[in-house]
Amino acid sequence: MSNNAGWNLDNSYVKLPKSFYSSMNPNPVSAPKLVFFNDELAASLGLDSQSLQSEEGAAVFAGNIVPEGASPLAQAYGGHQFGHFNMLGDGRAVLLGEQITPEGERVDVQLKGAGKTVFSRGGDGRAALGPMLREYIISEAMQAIGIPTTRSLAVVTTGESIFRETELPGAVLTRIAASHLRVGTFQYAAKWGELEDLRALADYAIQRHYPEIEPDENRYLSFLEEVIERQAALVAKWQLVGFIHGVMNTDNMTISGETIDYGPCAFMDVYNPKTVFSSIDVQGRYSYGNQPYMAGWNLARFAESLIPLLHDNQEQAIELAQQKISAYMDIYQSYWRTGMRSKLGIFGEEAEDEAIMNDLLNLMAEYKADYTNTFRALTFNALEGSDLFKSDEFSQWHKRWQERLDRQQEQKSEIGLLMKRSNPAVIPRNHRVEEALEAAVEHGDYSVMEHLLNVLSHPYAHSAEQEPFAKPPITTIPYQTYCGT
Ligand code: AMP
Ligand code: MG
Ligand code: MG
Repeated sequence: MSNNAGWNLDNSYVKLPKSFYSSMNPNPVSAPKLVFFNDELAASLGLDSQSLQSEEGAAVFAGNIVPEGASPLAQAYGGHQFGHFNMLGDGRAVLLGEQITPEGERVDVQLKGAGKTVFSRGGDGRAALGPMLREYIISEAMQAIGIPTTRSLAVVTTGESIFRETELPGAVLTRIAASHLRVGTFQYAAKWGELEDLRALADYAIQRHYPEIEPDENRYLSFLEEVIERQAALVAKWQLVGFIHGVMNTDNMTISGETIDYGPCAFMDVYNPKTVFSSIDVQGRYSYGNQPYMAGWNLARFAESLIPLLHDNQEQAIELAQQKISAYMDIYQSYWRTGMRSKLGIFGEEAEDEAIMNDLLNLMAEYKADYTNTFRALTFNALEGSDLFKSDEFSQWHKRWQERLDRQQEQKSEIGLLMKRSNPAVIPRNHRVEEALEAAVEHGDYSVMEHLLNVLSHPYAHSAEQEPFAKPPITTIPYQTYCGT
């Protein structure tokens, strides 16, 4: 492809030992058509929107044309899926290369749904349009809310059908990520690689995501500490907005600290820590309330894979790893408390704060209150319309909370501002996402999705036009999500 599209690709991943990837071009499709394109993201990557929103651009995003400078590959990795370790790898994704942005940042450009790879096992390597659009919506909403995430650059339809329970239109999503290094990549290296392979991978990850720790005396221990820190911060952000990932397998946990793999994820409406949306998560392993613990479990698997690098003496290496892992929960809780204080307009720290937070959450669970809208109502002092607000227990809680706010120096206006920028007015509500997907997939009407994305792009605006999108669904049928499409 001519390079007026702005491609500036490098391929550092191919310099890793060969066992970490399999070079291959994406598998071409019959009739690529660009159906969604992220202008703003394209511009930040130094890509030219106009030249990419063309037949040639569609061919690139479908994998039919490989852009100049790309050295495409599928990555090898392993991972614990619902607690069971498997050899995995990119079964339906091809990394084109790393775009060097005008700011000098390096980001992966990956085609998801690009056809079979050597890691496909029984799968067809393809993806359906609905789930790729769903990933687009939710990942872009996460970005707008302020949660580290992979991004969505483009969706193309392939002109081919894929077969799941029914026949579905095929699509390819172009995913942008700080990198696609996962906990599972390290598990793969630890299990099947030589020590030098593991070291090469760790050095690569450090250079790419944590260059500041390169000079440290024990850089691998610092690396473990940094990944724990970023994941603790990330999962705290998920909890604070009611995001349920749904499939927190170790291959779906990044080293960069970005949210990845928007398969069965969804946002919680009614607050209930036991909430699970994924049809396959029958045990509730990845329920809302379990997420912080599962992140800790995954990080322990990450620490295990680093043990050979942490110390020449294995016992001492294990002890170092354990020290770091045992600090995780406190780090997570500290991030969560800080975030929850902001949601409640609390500036300093008092011993009573934790009880104020937890008592509110318990009341929300008891009265089946909408998670997002409860915080909105507190922000705007619009306390009507729900059973929670009518209860005496809430009145008592509200009094305690007000007294807490009165004890701090900050004025009402400052408190209000803090709450407004800590409590999103809109999240991608499941019924709104479904509505947008139905219009797009069933009727080829992308305007509903466009509108939804516009509304979701300013979650802290608290504007009148957002009001209809802030309403919870009028249904009692539990929402269910599916992965593997
Ligand atoms: P996930 O649950 O999305 O993390 O996917 C788990 C594994 O299944 C990964 O190795 C994916 O690449 C692979 N996979 C998912 N869907 C397909 C597909 N349609 N064809 C081949 N591999 C797939
Ligand atoms: Mg995955
Ligand atoms: Mg997936």
